[in-house]
Amino acid sequence: MPVSQIDFPEIKLGVTFDCPCGRTHRVPTRRILFGDSLNELLSSIPDDEIPSGDILIVSGPKTRLIAGEGVAEHFHKRGRRTVVLEVERADLATVSKVERAASACSLAVAVGGGNAIDACKYSAHRLGIPFISIPTTISHDGVASPVASISLGSKRTSLMTAPPILVAITEPLIKHSPKRLIASGCADILAKSTSLRDWLLGHIVKDEHICRATFGLVASALLEIRRFIEDGGGDFILLSSAAVRCGLAMTLIGSSRPCSGAEHLFSHYIDGVGEGIGLHGEQVGMGAVLMAMRYEEFDILPPRGVELTGAEIRNYLAKAGAPTSINDIQVSKETAIRALLECKEIRPERYTILHHAPLTHRGAANLLRKAGMLSDE
Ligand SMILES: [Zn+2]
Ligand SMILES: [Zn+2]
Repeated sequence: MPVSQIDFPEIKLGVTFDCPCGRTHRVPTRRILFGDSLNELLSSIPDDEIPSGDILIVSGPKTRLIAGEGVAEHFHKRGRRTVVLEVERADLATVSKVERAASACSLAVAVGGGNAIDACKYSAHRLGIPFISIPTTISHDGVASPVASISLGSKRTSLMTAPPILVAITEPLIKHSPKRLIASGCADILAKSTSLRDWLLGHIVKDEHICRATFGLVASALLEIRRFIEDGGGDFILLSSAAVRCGLAMTLIGSSRPCSGAEHLFSHYIDGVGEGIGLHGEQVGMGAVLMAMRYEEFDILPPRGVELTGAEIRNYLAKAGAPTSINDIQVSKETAIRALLECKEIRPERYTILHHAPLTHRGAANLLRKAGMLSDE
C-alpha cells in the first residue's frame, strides 16, 4: 500500500478558517498519513515541515523496540540528532523527565500507545515545541487530539494541550497490537453516540455553542467505527480515520466536549475510586450503553446519525470484543451505582443526561440491570 493522506472534505487541515457556526477554528494538524511502512510514511514528510534542531523521541518499553528506534534511525539518516526516551507512565514525574530530556529539542515525536503519546503531548505543549503522533495502537481517541490524560497523584486528569502537527499511522503496527486495546478504541468511539447527544442537549437546554461541522465529523466517526466492527475489524483505515476525526473535532472546539459526555464522567468516577481493571474505552463504552438507555427512559429522540439504542451499542461492543458487564472489569455494583449518582459532580458545568435527569439509587440499580451490566444477577 502506498502512503496515503487521509483528508476530510468538511475540514481544512493546517489552517485557520471562519465557520458558519460563528467561530474561527484553527487546525494546527497539517497531515494525517496512513500506510504500511513507517519508514515510507516518514520519508514522505518534506524536510521543511520538520523544525531544525534536535528531535526527542518518546516511546514505551515495548514500542521503543518495535518502532521507536526505527524512527530515530530514520531521522539520523536525514542528518538529524535524536534523543530517545523510554516512558512507562503518563504522570507528572514522567512529564518532568521528558521536559529535561527535551530541553534542547525543537520537535517531539511520540511513538507508542496511550501513555507515550499523552506524556509526550503534554510535555511538548509545556515546552512550546510541536509534536508528531505515531501511534502503535488505537486504544482511545487521543491519537490526534489536543487532550492529554495525565495522572496527578491517584487521579487521572484530562488537560488541554496543542494537537499534533502530523499523525503517521502504520497499518501493520495497529493491526498487530493487542486485540483488547483495539476493542477499547472501538468502544471509546462508539461512546460518541451519547457524548454527541449530551452536547446537543447542552445546546438545547443551556444554549451552549454547537458547531454543525464538528458534530457531523464525530457522527461520521461513529459511522466508520460501526462499519469497522460490522466488517469484522479488518479495515484499519476506518478505525484510524474514526479516531482522527474525534481528535480533529476536539481541536476545532478547543475542548473534549463533542467526544466526552456523561459516559466519560461515569468512567472518570471509576478511575477516581481506583477500582477494577477496566481500560478507558471499556469503561466509557459501558457508560454509553447506560446513558443511551437513560435517554430512552425519557423518550428523548436522538438526532440523525446518532440513533444507536443502548441495546445496539451493547451489541457493537460485544462484536468488537469489548466487555459489556461491570463484572468483566471487576467493578462492584455499589461503585457503579455511586458512579451513576455522583459522577455529574466531577464536571457540573458540562451538561449531560445525568444533569438533566439525575438518578435515584433505585433508578441507578434498575438502569444497570436493564443494561445487562450485572451478569451475576
Ligand atoms: Zn474517551
Ligand atoms: Zn464551527
